[in-house]
Amino acid sequence: MIKIFVLRVRAFRTGKCYAFGASSARRLLMPARETEAIILKTFPLGEADRLVSFLGRASGRVRGAASGARRIKNRFGSTLEVLSHVQIWYVERETRDLVRIQQCELLESFHKAQSDYGLSTGLAAVSEISELVLPEHEVSEAMFRLILLTAREIERTGEWTLPLSYFTFWTVRLGGWLPRFDRCSVCGEAFGSGTAFHAEGNPGLLCENCRRPGMKSLSEAARRLAERFTGERLDRIDAAHAREGNAQLREVSMDWIEHHTERKLNTRRLLETN
Ligand SMILES: [Zn+2]
Repeated sequence: MIKIFVLRVRAFRTGKCYAFGASSARRLLMPARETEAIILKTFPLGEADRLVSFLGRASGRVRGAASGARRIKNRFGSTLEVLSHVQIWYVERETRDLVRIQQCELLESFHKAQSDYGLSTGLAAVSEISELVLPEHEVSEAMFRLILLTAREIERTGEWTLPLSYFTFWTVRLGGWLPRFDRCSVCGEAFGSGTAFHAEGNPGLLCENCRRPGMKSLSEAARRLAERFTGERLDRIDAAHAREGNAQLREVSMDWIEHHTERKLNTRRLLETN
């Protein structure tokens, strides 16, 4: 088996991406594919392997098996950490859902964020939301860039709250789920400088008159931050100035993601405690 793998690796390097060694027709593998990717999640698979979900720039979200990845000495090293930016080589198998991951090389790691509990929770939220909203095998350049930018900013600033607000807001926007931010979704009254209101399970924003008991507020500051997210680069937005409204905007965005995907985000609870 080791010999076969070596041959395959050599095949990639010479640019002939075909798997050698599996000669019988039954075991013939499809040509190997290569893509830049972001690791979304991994799970233990059997005794020694890992199931890996990744977002390929050229492939969309794909699930694959990385054999031997749970062994202490393995060829994947630290490439399979959450949100690692990698180059990945894999082969599809005609009869199975899982691709076989053959090789993975680190392009960019987010070590600081991955090894810090608070920051890694932020990364985990990005991972969970991406898994939920991205259909399998559908290329999404916008989401790819958004995830990468968010991970870079968490790593660079050592802070997850603003990048995560930006990520959740843009996920809602890219999903086409963003309601009007300027007027009430029930009566059409403009919010002006007033507070808007929202509730879990409701896709729109309501005014003071239409609000119902138990609704959460979305202040003018939060709505202004949304406007800045739309027009400015994340690394130009100062976290200290954006503090007001930051948490509100993230909360409403997460409510909308949960509403539209009809799922509860597990990482949300963890974020609240750190
Ligand atoms: Zn109203």
